Amino acid sequence: MTARLFVTLAIVLGVTALGELIEPRGGRLYADTAQLVVGAAAASICFAGARSRAGVQRRWRLLIGAGLTGWTLNRLWWLVQDVADPDRAITAVTDIGFFVLPACLLVALLQAPYTRPRPAPTSVRRDQVALVIDSVLIAGSLLALAWSLVPRDWLHWDGRPTSLIVAAAAYAIADLVLATMVLLLLLTRPDSRAGRKPIALGGLAVLALGVSDTLRLVNLADGALSPWQSAGHLLGAALLAVAALSSPSARGRTVADSGEGEWLHLVLPYIPVTATGVMIAINSGAGKPLSPFEAYLGWLGLGLVVARQMFTIVDNTVLLDRVSEGQRRLHHQAYHDPLTGLANRALFRERLTGALGGPVAVLFADLDDFKLINDSFGHAMGDRVLRAIAERLQRCVSPADLVARLGGDEFAVLLDHTPADAEPAGHRILAALREPFVIDGHTFGVGASIGLVVPEPGEPLTADALLRRADAAMYVSKRRGKGALARYSGTGDGGPNADLPHLLAEALASGEPSRAGFEVFYQPIVRFADAATVAVEALARWTSPVAGPVHPDVFVPVAERTGLVGAIDDFVLGRACADAAALSVVYGRPIDMHVNVSAARLGRPGLEESVAAALARSGLPAARLVLEITETHRIQDLASAAAVVARLRAYGVRIALDDFGSGFNALAQLHSLPVDIVKLDATLTDVDIAPDRAGALCRSVLAICTDLDIVVVAEGIETAARARALAELGCLVGQGYLFGQPAPLHRLRPPSIPSPSLPPSSAAHLAN
Ligand code: C2E
Ligand code: MG
Ligand code: MG
Repeated sequence: MTARLFVTLAIVLGVTALGELIEPRGGRLYADTAQLVVGAAAASICFAGARSRAGVQRRWRLLIGAGLTGWTLNRLWWLVQDVADPDRAITAVTDIGFFVLPACLLVALLQAPYTRPRPAPTSVRRDQVALVIDSVLIAGSLLALAWSLVPRDWLHWDGRPTSLIVAAAAYAIADLVLATMVLLLLLTRPDSRAGRKPIALGGLAVLALGVSDTLRLVNLADGALSPWQSAGHLLGAALLAVAALSSPSARGRTVADSGEGEWLHLVLPYIPVTATGVMIAINSGAGKPLSPFEAYLGWLGLGLVVARQMFTIVDNTVLLDRVSEGQRRLHHQAYHDPLTGLANRALFRERLTGALGGPVAVLFADLDDFKLINDSFGHAMGDRVLRAIAERLQRCVSPADLVARLGGDEFAVLLDHTPADAEPAGHRILAALREPFVIDGHTFGVGASIGLVVPEPGEPLTADALLRRADAAMYVSKRRGKGALARYSGTGDGGPNADLPHLLAEALASGEPSRAGFEVFYQPIVRFADAATVAVEALARWTSPVAGPVHPDVFVPVAERTGLVGAIDDFVLGRACADAAALSVVYGRPIDMHVNVSAARLGRPGLEESVAAALARSGLPAARLVLEITETHRIQDLASAAAVVARLRAYGVRIALDDFGSGFNALAQLHSLPVDIVKLDATLTDVDIAPDRAGALCRSVLAICTDLDIVVVAEGIETAARARALAELGCLVGQGYLFGQPAPLHRLRPPSIPSPSLPPSSAAHLAN
């Protein structure tokens, strides 16, 4: 680029120097020919440059090429005239063709706003008009200043027709406007990618043209310009060609980001206007009357300032609209779930806080086994199902109530307009979700467990406390068999203001759970044949020193979610093994000890060590220990879980599948995990109420288990009728309130329930 500039300068200097030799007194033929050649060459370079480019880059090169063509043709016309009549008088009419160049340059410069990369507050069209107004305003002010400062005797216009003076002045003024525009583009729109280089080169060209045009305006009466004086025309045309050859710089400066460009943008046009105003005021103060030209410039300036202000106002309005639109969008983002468009936790809490004190109800829904859909079909499909669920939820409640997605697969509904409708709405939701979702040919069944909480009027509650109650109620419903609704009953949630995860972490951090309110209760497992207690199940109990008694249905899931369940399991395991000897005394015979272990622990290290340590410490034979695996979370890696189970069994410990039939893939587990005992979930043992269906299921499970040499323990037996029905189906052992509620060691007594009379041979399946 620098080399090109030097070559250009050298050529111009050479041509001018030659002109000085040939026509020292400003003859016209050489100058006209030289300008004709340079103009034609520059125009062709511009057109050539345009051919290989597209868009704005092509447009401005074509425009400048066209301007230079007009300029060159006018030169040709001059040359023809000069040859025909070397002494002809120059008239304004012959100059008209030259105006094509500044006009084209103006339009070419107005292409720059199209390349502003970031969203400017104004439209391209408004920016173009503002650019023209600012340029004319500044140029007009500078002109007014020059008019009042330049002594009149510098101007040699005597004897020249006004039309000629006006035409010559118009060039210089056009150059001034163009130069101002270039300056404005470079200073106030520095981020334009139009390329600062071509704009700057264009500015230099305008400057060169301007110098020659101004000299011509000043020297009108002196005849033709000398070759040096008219060198600016040559240089101008040549620099435009150099500009057309340049490539745009990759990135503009980003001064505008700092606000500097914007500031300049606003202030720059008014600096010369103010200077002119001050000048006119000083002149008027000194008694110098305004010339008509100055007055005209003054009015023009005033008009333009007003127009400029109008544009600024429009821009500001657009800007304000954008800001408020942006704020609206930000607010929406902050308060809505991007996936479903529902309210998010923040909005839900805010509205719940506002609704507290008045009648209000909250439904808290957690999807059952939603992870399965994500695992099997991928997260994209999971997302689509969640969106479909969100739509159904909204259709189940009144539009005035608020449906929110609190996270992952948790949804909540705030019924602050129709609180009385809460329970029916909960059932409508359960029914709506039971309808299968069909997406892309796949059919999905989605269940949900719903917790409902309706605070007593006047009860002082925070939004968080209410949400915790809803959460606790939801867990109760989940554990009582998924796909149901549970109403918060006011007990077992750990108190109204309990922050359970925090309290639980605190209680277990001490290393001594018994000091923090943890206890172990035992519930008998009874052989139907003779009502003998053959085993007990150890069940954790927690009375928080802060929140009071907390139900296991509440604290076990919380402990599982927060990774604390291992500590509880280990405490219960240790205590149960230690109590086993005393329990044998209570029941008058050695009994098995059942201890619950969260399925999640099968995948983590430490379980085998804990078991070995507890057995070693208590002296309990491994054969007396049964580990109940409760599948509250799907066992991800059945193979490695099976390996852990196999190692524990090799050690002598027996394994039971807890709540069989209520969890995830019951049969797959039975197939993969080498277990000894299956605890049939209470939901499947109602053989006395639904003998056909439950009976068939029970019979099948019993048949499978007998084939696999697995003992079945029926859970949740509350009535003698159920115990009898189960026994008749061939089930040998059971557990339930009928045989004894979970109780601490010191309150345990041998059961006094008469045995359902059965053939004694069936008891042979049991070890004791
Ligand atoms: P689970 O292992 O199935 O324990 C049996 C649950 O059924 C106990 O509830 C027991 O009180 C209850 N139950 C027993 N008989 C009847 C009956 O006739 N009718 C009814 N309606 N319920 C009966 P609990 O003690 O509230 O424990 C709930 C669950 O918490 C347990 O279910 C178990 O999954 C979990 N859990 C308890 N202790 C521990 C523990 O130390 N570790 C782990 N990981 N989980 C535990
Ligand atoms: Mg259990
Ligand atoms: Mg169970």
